[in-house]
Amino acid sequence: MDMPTRLEESVDLFVNANRQFEQALTWIDGIKVGIIDYLINPKRTMHVRFPVNMDDESIRTFHGFRVLHNRVRGPGKGGIRYHPNVTEAEVAALAAFMTWKTAVVDIPFGGGKGGVVCNPKELSRGELRRVTRRFVAELGDAIGPHTDIPAPDVYTDAQTMAWIYDTFDLMHPGQNNLAVVTGKPLEIGGSVGREEATARGSLYATEQLLKRGVVPGLETLDGARVAVQGYGNVGATAARLFQEAGARIVAVSDSRGGICDDSGLDAEQVLAHKNECGSVVGLPTSTDISNADLLAHDCDILIPAALECQIREDNAANVKARLIVEAANGPLTAVADKIAQEKNIVVLPDIVANSGGVVVSYFEWVQNLENQQWDIDKVDRKLRNKMLRAIDDTVDRWIALCKRHKDGFNGNRVGPTLRDAALVTAIERIATVVLQRDIWP
Ligand code: NAD
Repeated sequence: MDMPTRLEESVDLFVNANRQFEQALTWIDGIKVGIIDYLINPKRTMHVRFPVNMDDESIRTFHGFRVLHNRVRGPGKGGIRYHPNVTEAEVAALAAFMTWKTAVVDIPFGGGKGGVVCNPKELSRGELRRVTRRFVAELGDAIGPHTDIPAPDVYTDAQTMAWIYDTFDLMHPGQNNLAVVTGKPLEIGGSVGREEATARGSLYATEQLLKRGVVPGLETLDGARVAVQGYGNVGATAARLFQEAGARIVAVSDSRGGICDDSGLDAEQVLAHKNECGSVVGLPTSTDISNADLLAHDCDILIPAALECQIREDNAANVKARLIVEAANGPLTAVADKIAQEKNIVVLPDIVANSGGVVVSYFEWVQNLENQQWDIDKVDRKLRNKMLRAIDDTVDRWIALCKRHKDGFNGNRVGPTLRDAALVTAIERIATVVLQRDIWP
């Protein structure tokens, strides 16, 4: 028998995304090699370089791109990030995540992602506006309500989406263009519930996962000890919602460090402190800890909600949680994934755990196309249904893969993970549609 090859650690999101994909493929039989080749690489990558007038009257050239990974199940969907270190490979990996995410949660979209290399902290509001408008103009018809639909991501927000909508609308007069972008302000077609959708989706997904008995000894959130890494949009909202659902938030962190209190932190109080002081660190009545301590904190559930590749070969063994809920995209490297599996830590993968955001983006798109405004009860009810279904599909598939593993399928040495199950579900759904649509000509 071959010895298992040891994975080399990598903190490159693209490398880790491909490893996840390849690992999932070992659980699929009967899929044509050509379809795999087609799915692994993006359908289209668009590079644009464009000039912008700066406040000091100089002219600066910016570099942006939009990756459309796949759109056999519907238009591309995915955020646009503004960051000095954004690369084509990172955006390609995130675009692929979107393809799997939209398939596993079963909404009629494909996957896309975009980025502009810039440091938004060093740009004025006027410069950001001009960068955004010119970027959209350069993308031209590469984006559109039925082709590829952007959304907010790192350092872009509802205001950025409003500029994107307005620019596209000016370029395409005489038609309803609201659905060209999601995450817009409520006043111009945004959906209620979008802001907390990602965290709320994580909550619904976690509750259902526990109910399905996937984490031995942890059937509900009632009294569960939760640690949250990252206290931004997703992390702070998750802390509040998990607390409201009965969990005890024992530790949280942001880029400056963390705090803990085993008797339970109050999520709202932590947020008020962060808003006032710029960080969660220093909240009276709590104890300051390092970011490394946060990941190793004694808890039942760890929610990474910051950046990619945070749990790696060098710190994964310290994690004490029984369940990791990947609210961030790609927070575990492939090596960390293996370590978690060896330690019997269940990982609820990002493509399910944080898909609530794109689900409500889909609801926004539907409302825009129909010129409708749904109320929050309708949005939440439909979001919950989608999340429960995605968990049930993933868990059912995981149980089926476990059985195949027991029967010796494919000589796989280690059993399947929930990530394998979610990716297999997504890949098979997309492959089915590729074949149903047929390859033209
Ligand atoms: P955000 O910028 O609002 O928050 C990020 C938080 O992480 C901040 O509090 C920051 O201080 C903290 N952070 C950064 N580095 C850290 C570190 N080393 N240790 C601890 N904390 C650190 O971003 P967000 O919108 O909350 O997104 C968080 C993650 O969730 C990202 O991976 C994003 O791609 C993913 N995600 C977001 C959405 C959404 O709807 N916002 C949807 C899906 C996935």
